[in-house]
Amino acid sequence: MDDSRYSRQELLIGKSAQKKLCGSHVAIIGIGALGTAASEVLARAGIGKITMIDDDVVKLTNLQRQLLFDESDIGTMKAKAAAEKLKKINSTIRVESYLVRVNKKNISKLVGKPDVILDCTDRMESRFIINEYCLNNKLPWIHGAALKHSGQIMVFNFRKKNQPCFSCAFGNSISTETADTSGILAATTVTTATAQATEAMKLLIGIENVKGLLRFDVLSHDTLIVSVRKRPHCISCRK
Ligand SMILES: [Zn+2]
Repeated sequence: MDDSRYSRQELLIGKSAQKKLCGSHVAIIGIGALGTAASEVLARAGIGKITMIDDDVVKLTNLQRQLLFDESDIGTMKAKAAAEKLKKINSTIRVESYLVRVNKKNISKLVGKPDVILDCTDRMESRFIINEYCLNNKLPWIHGAALKHSGQIMVFNFRKKNQPCFSCAFGNSISTETADTSGILAATTVTTATAQATEAMKLLIGIENVKGLLRFDVLSHDTLIVSVRKRPHCISCRK
């Protein structure tokens, strides 16, 4: 029996796919409920380099759902605390953390050219910045959002031609609801984040991603895939 670290995963995906994961770079923007859960799954799976970006500190109200944190982390920067936990989980990978908020000017320097970016923010403004950066650099990114008992993810792979972008899917919509005002279950964020991490791994090893906007409800277990078309006059991706 093979008792190496990734042996159970390799049984499914094979050694060459595991090698691809070990040579991959994933950037995670937002290290709250989605970012902690997604980064833990990806660190355990052996992603070679993980970049963590967040400008917030751990609070008591975060512990209900932000998996990597414990009471001793309260008051520490989320990206720093999370990076330290990930290094304990898997010392063979590289984890870097930046304690700032992503904006149009700094995104290039912070994330560089990773193989995929995960949107684990809860801000529409940040999502439009990620969308624009990925469009300009033909990078794939995976949107994730969770509120109350509903979650959604969507893969935007701009390495492929004629793909819809975030603006095609959501226009200029701005939601003012957050976990702080409307509430959230840990099951919602964990389910959303693991779906994002799974799609990231699929993308890295060449398995076709889910197409369209995947929505689910953790109470009813209803799942829906909404097809999204590229808009010809989209403000972000029209040429
Ligand atoms: Zn578009």
